Amino acid sequence: MRFENIKLNKNLAKGIRQLGWETMSPIQEKSIKKISSGRDLVGIAPTGSGKTAAYLIPLINKLQYAQGEHPRLMIMVPTKDLVFQVREVIEQLTQFSNLRITSVYGGSGKQRMMDELERGTDILIATPGRVHELAVTRFLVLKDLKYLVVDEADSMLEKEFFRQVEAILELLPEQRQNVFFSATFDQESDEMSQKICWDPIKVEI
Ligand code: AMP
Repeated sequence: MRFENIKLNKNLAKGIRQLGWETMSPIQEKSIKKISSGRDLVGIAPTGSGKTAAYLIPLINKLQYAQGEHPRLMIMVPTKDLVFQVREVIEQLTQFSNLRITSVYGGSGKQRMMDELERGTDILIATPGRVHELAVTRFLVLKDLKYLVVDEADSMLEKEFFRQVEAILELLPEQRQNVFFSATFDQESDEMSQKICWDPIKVEI
């Protein structure tokens, strides 16, 4: 399916055109409409499949414009490198909108992250440890979160990560939409997806 044949707000459609993307990859075909409908989704897809845009396009489309002070969309990934990679795709997709992006991760000064949060943000890209730390110290307020993505979840199954993700879930509003992406799916990832999602649709490529 072609991007021009689905209904997207014009700033996002322009961002996609600017990237030169015309047709959806298989995981995008399977996920974009379902996420747009508001359902929780568990996606099993490897890196390189276009999975990042598969969740970003429908969720950025729901955000539309900058609004409020606290993040409405949070994407959690296991490493700082992934934070940068996801941020780059978001910056490209949102280049014609006024959506504000903040990234927070471990191993780097907190002050810049706190300053960015203070200015207000719509989209947060984060590693779990830093989110938890900033949330419990009240620098990060998660009460307005509407959309949660956990990406590369198979790298977050290690005990410490799992514990941090569980602690973060406690701080989120119950009414929210969840997307869970993993390259592989076994009993442990199934368990984590069940903690995060409510009655998800499962898609696989
Ligand atoms: P990912 O699997 O999310 O890491 O994406 C793999 C690569 O595919 C990235 O470099 C994206 O920029 C690119 N990409 C994602 N969706 C599309 C698309 N529909 N058409 C062309 N390239 C894409």
